[in-house]
Amino acid sequence: MDFQKIPPVRDQLMKCVRCGKCRSVCPVFTEVKNETAAPRGHVFMVQMLRDGKVQPSEELYERLSICLMCENCTVNCPSGIDVHELNAAARSYIYDQNPTLGKEVVFDTMWTRPGLLKGSTRLLWGTQRLGLQKLARSLGLTRILPGDLPKAEKILNKVPFRSARQRLPEVNPARGQKKYTIGYFLGCGTDLLQPSVALATVDVLTRNGCEVIVPKDSRCCGLPQIANGKMDTARRLMAHNIKIYNSYDFDYIVTDCASCSSALSRKNLEFLLGGLKIEDQAFEFAEKVMDLSYFLIHVLDLQLPELKDIETVRVTYHDPCHLANAQDIKEEPRELLRRIPGISFVDMEEANTCCGGSGTYSLTHYDISMKILDRKMDHAMATGADLLATSCPSCMMQLNYGINRHHWQAKVVHPIQLLSEYYQRVPVINQ
Ligand code: SF4
Ligand code: SF4
Repeated sequence: MDFQKIPPVRDQLMKCVRCGKCRSVCPVFTEVKNETAAPRGHVFMVQMLRDGKVQPSEELYERLSICLMCENCTVNCPSGIDVHELNAAARSYIYDQNPTLGKEVVFDTMWTRPGLLKGSTRLLWGTQRLGLQKLARSLGLTRILPGDLPKAEKILNKVPFRSARQRLPEVNPARGQKKYTIGYFLGCGTDLLQPSVALATVDVLTRNGCEVIVPKDSRCCGLPQIANGKMDTARRLMAHNIKIYNSYDFDYIVTDCASCSSALSRKNLEFLLGGLKIEDQAFEFAEKVMDLSYFLIHVLDLQLPELKDIETVRVTYHDPCHLANAQDIKEEPRELLRRIPGISFVDMEEANTCCGGSGTYSLTHYDISMKILDRKMDHAMATGADLLATSCPSCMMQLNYGINRHHWQAKVVHPIQLLSEYYQRVPVINQ
């Protein structure tokens, strides 16, 4: 797609009044304190790029890729500019003229084919003892993970041997009377890195009258591709997913991954597919997409029976940017946690500031990512919580690294895991 015709590039660049509001809320600028790392600076770079005043060079790509895509600038911009979209569109335009073999292998060949992606994580599982650096070198991935590899190696969780997709049947019948047919969008992170989250999601939904279908042929939501300059690949993935999910008669399409629900939202589809033939089918699809916590609160109005003699655990919550900023969903996960008997919920300061994980960012920009993570951990630890909850597998991975790095005796969980655990202790619901 022509760079100039991408909606934010076409319609928004002239709206920037250089007020600097975006700079004051940018977690990267807070650490780096350099205008070239600020959202306002990025808007200016994109404008220069559009006007042909700078070349689409690798150096410009590097400057833009310091952004986490957390969307804090976007939600705070008084002119309503989708700053992160401008950045993503520019990265894609630049990348198309400076492609790299490593990215083609990772984001186009492997990540678009579930079998290959699963095979590569299996390889990772099998060679964890060899070290990521050695593995990545052998796969030719060092060009996208430069320099920081030995450090980044520590961030990757132990990769589970069996993915969620291997453990879940395609059709999971509702227990009791069926209320809804749900298409479960099982994201790559949940599937391959946090399969217990997927099992908990299906458990809670089926207990509450939902038949849960996990379409075999669904693929990545495309967000990693957008963040890595591969918008065309993201478009192809999206078109595929829309076709698959629209071929069922789902009441809702639910996902437990903040990044997936934001990628599948109407807002992102307008950015990615705006003006293309597929637009109408895309919006029909997006109408049904819903974050899991939103679904549990607003559609099911989940209520849990009280159990006697349960211990109280203190839980805090980190807002994934793709839920809080991209979808304005902040209250629902908290409400869900508060509804679980035995949970004492405590909010942390700056709960909706990025954790510095942002997909592959902590691997490619380790030092900045750690500064942002350390700030997050200070706020989380100050709550004295036993559990640190969040609703995104990428944040879970980063926060897990954070608690290890800070030697904090807490555990990182997805709220749905706490719900599922609670249900397993309620005898009447198990019958
Ligand atoms: S907040 Fe919006 S208008 Fe202000 S400098 Fe940033 S991008 Fe421009
Ligand atoms: S998306 Fe986040 S990291 Fe990127 S420029 Fe905006 S506020 Fe900064």
